[in-house]
Amino acid sequence: MVEDMTTPLLSDSEAPADALPVCLTSPTVAILGSGDFSRSLALRLVASGVRVVVGSRCVNRIPSGLFPDAVELRNQEGAVSQAVCLVFMAVFPEHYCSLLGLQSALAGKVLVDVSNGAEMNIHGPSNAERLAELFPDSLVVKGFNTVSTWELQTGAHDGSRQVMICSNSTEGKKKVVQLARQMGFHPVDMGGLSAAREIEVAPLRLFPSWSGPVVVTFLLFLFFYGYGFLRGILLPFLAQGGHNAFYRLALDLVNESLPAVALVTLALVYFPGLFAAWLQLWRGTKYQRFPSWLDNWLQRRKQLGLLSFLCAALHGVYSLCLPLRRITLHRLVNTAYRQVKAGTEEPWDELGVWRSDLYLSCGVLGLGVLSLLAITSLPTVGNTLNWREFTFVQSGLGYIALTLSIMHTLFFGWDFAFHIEAYPFYMPPSYLLAVVVPCIVLVCRCFLLLPCIFTRLTRIRRGWESKRNCPVLQHHYVVANGIP
Ligand code: NAP
Repeated sequence: MVEDMTTPLLSDSEAPADALPVCLTSPTVAILGSGDFSRSLALRLVASGVRVVVGSRCVNRIPSGLFPDAVELRNQEGAVSQAVCLVFMAVFPEHYCSLLGLQSALAGKVLVDVSNGAEMNIHGPSNAERLAELFPDSLVVKGFNTVSTWELQTGAHDGSRQVMICSNSTEGKKKVVQLARQMGFHPVDMGGLSAAREIEVAPLRLFPSWSGPVVVTFLLFLFFYGYGFLRGILLPFLAQGGHNAFYRLALDLVNESLPAVALVTLALVYFPGLFAAWLQLWRGTKYQRFPSWLDNWLQRRKQLGLLSFLCAALHGVYSLCLPLRRITLHRLVNTAYRQVKAGTEEPWDELGVWRSDLYLSCGVLGLGVLSLLAITSLPTVGNTLNWREFTFVQSGLGYIALTLSIMHTLFFGWDFAFHIEAYPFYMPPSYLLAVVVPCIVLVCRCFLLLPCIFTRLTRIRRGWESKRNCPVLQHHYVVANGIP
């Protein structure tokens, strides 16, 4: 009876090409191993209308209810014999050898290797290649290892939907791709089995594109924090014999460093683009590769922009917390007390009011535009924009955010930078240091907008090359002058 139920009503060849996934035409799929991955995979396969048989070394050990009722539990041999074509190897690669007894039963079947790498830098063949060596008569396909058990269970609309697949067998790959689609995933063909190593270590990678930007942001924070500590706390403490301002370490200094880091990081987003433009102008061609450090920098702009947004947002939150501080209350009450005692009033400071309103307004607007940039850098939002819209947001609005942030800093600094008291121990205030790189970026950008430079750059970007670099012109020159 079981045999009857598992026999497809229509054979594969008879199934119409556009058959709905949830139907009884799905050939039975076997999963070897009854662990966490096997259970989640079985749940998803059953939900996608696929018949599943799980092969275990000891069926009796599997607690009842662990797998859905629709899943058939068999010993390993029984499961493999039921599989029409696909067998998932949901066991750790160290135990592949223990399955060698199934070699002949698995011959001609597609073995899906779902294993992850144990470490990032392992030499020698990948798990999938070793599996292919152990089972030379089977078609080994690497895939599904980048999907976690959680993603398998949460259904087609949550979690990551990408499944990376590779194999030397086109036929095997096609079958796995079809099944992945039926399960609601987006299969990504990564080529031959030699790509398996890359797929196996993919789940082990820890934010590979973020390490550089995070380190840069952290170092910038350390620099501004250390500089502020030296200039505003330690040196005055040593010079004035015990003037204690160490309480500033927890909030004041952090809030002073964050905007500086945000501003410099935002400038670093636009710096490599300008550098690349000037390099193209100088070379007179776009057909020479950028140095690898510049290439890497260009590829990390999104991460730098998001980190800049994070620092700016934190600065905003910290600034909102300033009135809640105990020291603010202390200062306010004491000033009021002193004024009451002296019978004086706080004079109206027109210039001060303008200054604070201007710098607050520029700061809020800058943060708003930066939020837009951060939102559009999300793939789901970015994908809805065409190239022109994306460039407008990322470049046009980006420069507006940078300009507003510089204005926020300059309005904050006002004319204090021209007073000698702003330079204790010959050290300029940190906000002055923070605007240097952004100002250079803005000035360089303005130069690029000059018509003579802009026209030349546009031509270069459309494929024009200066005579000095154009290989075709050089060739004609060589031929015309008979140079051997
Ligand atoms: P697990 O819970 O430990 O299950 C492994 C299963 O392998 C066992 O339940 C066992 O089932 C079976 N097995 C077969 N031969 C074995 C042997 N000689 N010794 C020990 N066990 C043997 O592991 P898992 O988390 O499901 O992971 C299985 C594979 O999926 C691994 O290669 C892993 O890298 C991959 N993976 C896991 C995840 C995840 O989120 N867990 C995600 C991606 C990929 P029986 O006792 O029933 O035979």
